[in-house]
Amino acid sequence: MKGEKPEGGKISFDQENRLSWKGDPPAPPPPYFPRDPIKEEVGRLIQRFFPHHPGRLDIDHLPATASDAQRLWDWAKLHCLPFFGPYEDAMSTRSRGLFHTRLSALLNIHRLIPRDILFEVERMKIPLPSREGFIRQVLGWREFVRHTHLATDGFRKLPPGNPSVAEVPGDGGYRRWSGKPWPSSNNPKDPDGGAELNALNCRMNLPPAYWGRKSGLACLDHVVEDVWAEGYSHHITRLMVLSNLAALLDVRPREIADWFWVAYTDAYDWVVEPNVLAMGTFAVGELMTTKPYVSGAAYIDRMSDFCSHCRFDPRKNCPIANLYWAFLSRHEKLLNKNPRLAMPRRSLARRGAELHKRDRAVFKILQEVLSTGNEIVPEDLP
Ligand SMILES: Cc1cc2nc3c(=O)[nH]c(=O)nc-3n(C[C@H](O)[C@H](O)[C@H](O)COP(=O)(O)OP(=O)(O)OC[C@H]3O[C@@H](n4cnc5c(N)ncnc54)[C@H](O)[C@@H]3O)c2cc1C
Ligand code: SF4
Repeated sequence: MKGEKPEGGKISFDQENRLSWKGDPPAPPPPYFPRDPIKEEVGRLIQRFFPHHPGRLDIDHLPATASDAQRLWDWAKLHCLPFFGPYEDAMSTRSRGLFHTRLSALLNIHRLIPRDILFEVERMKIPLPSREGFIRQVLGWREFVRHTHLATDGFRKLPPGNPSVAEVPGDGGYRRWSGKPWPSSNNPKDPDGGAELNALNCRMNLPPAYWGRKSGLACLDHVVEDVWAEGYSHHITRLMVLSNLAALLDVRPREIADWFWVAYTDAYDWVVEPNVLAMGTFAVGELMTTKPYVSGAAYIDRMSDFCSHCRFDPRKNCPIANLYWAFLSRHEKLLNKNPRLAMPRRSLARRGAELHKRDRAVFKILQEVLSTGNEIVPEDLP
């Protein structure tokens, strides 16, 4: 704020911050961090005690010491923050992180302190949309999800009545995919498995595609590959590809939340539960977000280059387009008063009976093909 007024004349620069990325300015490669004997020993311990881990271990990319954390922060200030705002919603096959800072894991374990980085960014000489955008992520979203978690005990305690809570932590579908149980400690002091909210009554198991089996949908396959390579992907890939597709397919919210727990290096209860159960899947209804964050192929096509690597065409035969309309139609009763969905509802009403039928058929086929671990091809679709 400048006195009573927001700097730049408005509170949010979200409208400006929606560019797709065509390769210019070049996205910075993430830094490497030197090895030391402790880091190498930890690497060996991981391989010995967690050989079943589904990802890849690349200790050279993991910041471990206090000076590694500082190096990552210096890299983020120099290479990411000047372009953070305009490209914060972009996705690309050419850069896993684009101009995102990769700070979340270090912030969550307090190697970096949110207040310190905010004070620095507030004073940085970078374009206002980037400064505002970054501050809003940390001071806005990060604090908001944390307070939601604290106020509801991870959605275990809710005003309209408490939901059921899973007795033990789930495995995000690991056993079905690998044929092996996810090793658990069997310690009675282990925490419960989290709130089982399901406002949209979704029943599908998480498909093996989230564990690395190819689905034939280039956007999903690309992002999943990124996640297992690094235990990281940036916000829009989490929201508009991974949880979007899970929501469109009617995947059980608890299972996709458990998968996020397993897959990401920055996973913590206070941040996974609100982001996945509320923001990503709308499992808590309108408690935390005003609408489900779902989108069809047009958004993915506009914000990424995934579609140019896909066997489907986002304008002609992409099944995600049908999934989107089928979602709106399936959940019409629950969503029909939501003012933020008024426009898509009007478009939905204009789709004729034939198209509705096709949307439903594509939804069923996709559920069937992906749950059996097969790839979808254009010939599968009506
Ligand atoms: C389905 C889903 C699951 C998520 N799971 C996690 C998780 O397990 N752990 C986690 O820390 N974040 C999670 N997030 C939030 C966000 O996606 C990550 O914090 C961010 O992508 C981390 O990458 P970055 O450090 O490069 O972020 P940047 O884009 O560089 O953003 C800077 C910082 O802002 C904060 N931030 C931005 N958005 C959020 C948000 N929605 N919630 C909390 N903090 C935010 C993070 O601390 C992040 O490091 C999830 C979001 C979604 C939609
Ligand atoms: S065409 Fe459809 S499935 Fe393929 S990448 Fe684009 S949105 Fe994803």
